[in-house]
Amino acid sequence: MKISTTCVQGGYTPGNGEPRQIPIIQSTTFKYDTSEDMGKLFDLEASGYFYTRLQNPTNDFVAAKIAQMEGGTAAMLTSSGQAANFFALFNICQCGDHIVSSSSIYGGTYNLIAVTMKRMGIDVTFVPPTATEEELNAAFKENTKAMFGETIANPALTVLDIEKFAKAAHAHGVPLVVDNTFATPVNCRPFEWGADIVTHSTTKYMDGHGAAVGGAIVDSGKFDWKAHADKYPGLCTPDESYHGVTYVERFGLEGAFITKCTTQLMRDLGSIQSPQNAFILNLGLESLHVRMQRHCENGLAVAEFLSGHPKVAYVNYCDLPGDAYHELAKKYLPKGSCGVVSFGLKGGRAAAEAFMKELKIAAIETHVADARTCCLNPATSTHRQMNDEQLKEAGVPAELIRISCGIEDKEDLIADLAQALTACK
Ligand SMILES: *Cc1c(COP(=O)(O)O)cnc(C)c1O
Repeated sequence: MKISTTCVQGGYTPGNGEPRQIPIIQSTTFKYDTSEDMGKLFDLEASGYFYTRLQNPTNDFVAAKIAQMEGGTAAMLTSSGQAANFFALFNICQCGDHIVSSSSIYGGTYNLIAVTMKRMGIDVTFVPPTATEEELNAAFKENTKAMFGETIANPALTVLDIEKFAKAAHAHGVPLVVDNTFATPVNCRPFEWGADIVTHSTTKYMDGHGAAVGGAIVDSGKFDWKAHADKYPGLCTPDESYHGVTYVERFGLEGAFITKCTTQLMRDLGSIQSPQNAFILNLGLESLHVRMQRHCENGLAVAEFLSGHPKVAYVNYCDLPGDAYHELAKKYLPKGSCGVVSFGLKGGRAAAEAFMKELKIAAIETHVADARTCCLNPATSTHRQMNDEQLKEAGVPAELIRISCGIEDKEDLIADLAQALTACK
């Protein structure tokens, strides 16, 4: 099946007389005839549901669709994108371990890795997305267990050289985890370029309507944990909390990672997506391929308009020829990147503030990647505790505006930007 068909029909095939749309199984628990039946579930000898903190059928239909979209072998939903990235890394890293991560990543993920996971004893080395092969190789240590990056980084809009990062990760016997939130599997499938685990904030384009916070983790099933068994005892040696099950033996390379993540991390940390939200997410997935096309068409039109305007100092959008990441975009994102464009006005911070006040269609929000166009000046909102010097260092200079182009008519979006640029002094 092509990606468009998978978006609409993947993950759930109703039987004769069953509901056409996936049912919302709004139940915390599931009933069994005998204790023996239930015991088999607890011992992981049979598959089935017993408690929604760990697994729920509605979630599993949607996770199966996302696994198909990414070309993976198994997937799970989490309560948020933050939970997805934490679980994906914590499933294979523990106190005393080390991660190599691109420095160009979402602020929440940066904090997660640099502050919270560090407090748990997991160290990190950040590398620029433009690092050479030698620089990447130099970042690895004996105790490195994972490499991390974002296909298109939020908000810097850098494009990850997935093949280069995967090569470095594999040379050191560790998997590459890629957050594919902004590109979505419609525009890029990181597994085809060597990534091993993919994560998503489904809150963004996948839901696409600003309606439900959520996350997903997908396994390619390709990383050979057994070949690096000394690094990954959690997957390759018996789990005493499940009567000695060894995940790679019982569930194979195709199922070990997600099974361990569900049975250990969901059991103990409990960050499941609600079945209601999974249902809403699935409605978004049904039109993702159609929406992404329009987001990209609008993004490109807006980027082209802005780059030709006399009041605009610069535009970052990888589909523009001349953008620093255009060559990588042509390779990894041939169908387009996403609807998010960032730009700077010549008048700096004051001009950005004055300009945004004049916008009529583009609303000021911290959100991105949904059907309605929205924009943000990080310096006066999410990053307002930083001074101009710190902002520059963080790659979000004071004048930077991030606009997330929705699926409205591009002529209306451009007219809105044009009148605001004229009106602002
Ligand atoms: C928003 C975002 C996240 C965090 O996701 P939440 O659903 O808000 O928890 C992680 N990664 C990227 C790239 C994001 O844009």
